Amino acid sequence: MRKKVIAGNWKMNLTQEEAEKFLQELILILPKTKSEVILCVPFVDLDVAKKITSSTDIKIGAQNCHFEEKGAFTGEISAKMLSSMNVDYVILGHSERRTYFAETDEIINKKVKAALSQKLKVILCVGETLEQREQNITNDVIKSQLFVALKDIEKDALKNITIAYEPVWAIGTGKTATADLAEEVCKFIRNLIKDLYSSEVSDSIAILYGGSMNSKNAQELLSQEDIDGGLIGGASLKIADFSEIINIAEKI
Ligand code: PEP
Repeated sequence: MRKKVIAGNWKMNLTQEEAEKFLQELILILPKTKSEVILCVPFVDLDVAKKITSSTDIKIGAQNCHFEEKGAFTGEISAKMLSSMNVDYVILGHSERRTYFAETDEIINKKVKAALSQKLKVILCVGETLEQREQNITNDVIKSQLFVALKDIEKDALKNITIAYEPVWAIGTGKTATADLAEEVCKFIRNLIKDLYSSEVSDSIAILYGGSMNSKNAQELLSQEDIDGGLIGGASLKIADFSEIINIAEKI
């Protein structure tokens, strides 16, 4: 039995003060969970988020890192810096990073290696655009994103990787993939991991769905056999919605 994983992605939202208030409120209403609850927050909120959640099971993640350890990369943050703050997770390969910051699969592969070398857990995002889906090349796109991002990553490291299937057309648009469609691609990803590594790895890896998940559609999505949780953007900024999704996951 794989553990459910509910990960929030705040994107570029919430100042330190707002983050502090949000987390204090969330902690008050969140029961002890058997699911892994993660909040991926802006860099400037990491410190306050780690402090407030220190006596809870909530894990804190960043939303990006650079692949170099240090150097002349103005405005960037390294995996080593995140690790030195005891950050637990980092999201890599999010479609917004791919689209707005020209991140390629090769760059994402370097970032995955950098994060793992610093003992960070990785949430690796893959997903097709609407155009690619309409061209019937979803599986080819996912396969190539996954194979390149995981190039030269040893089997043993897979225990520190969670994969998030995020169809680009469903992110922040209010258009959720149907549960059947999301399940089909998550199952496809699990089979790819089996081919690349082993059935032991594919049986244990967590595969999340992301794309306009909310408290109304979570039950159906999270009940699918190959969907182990959600990567949640918009709804993770609403305490009632986010905690309701966690409650739903707890009961599945
Ligand atoms: C995301 O940012 O990864 C995401 C899935 O966003 P939303 O839930 O808002 O679609």
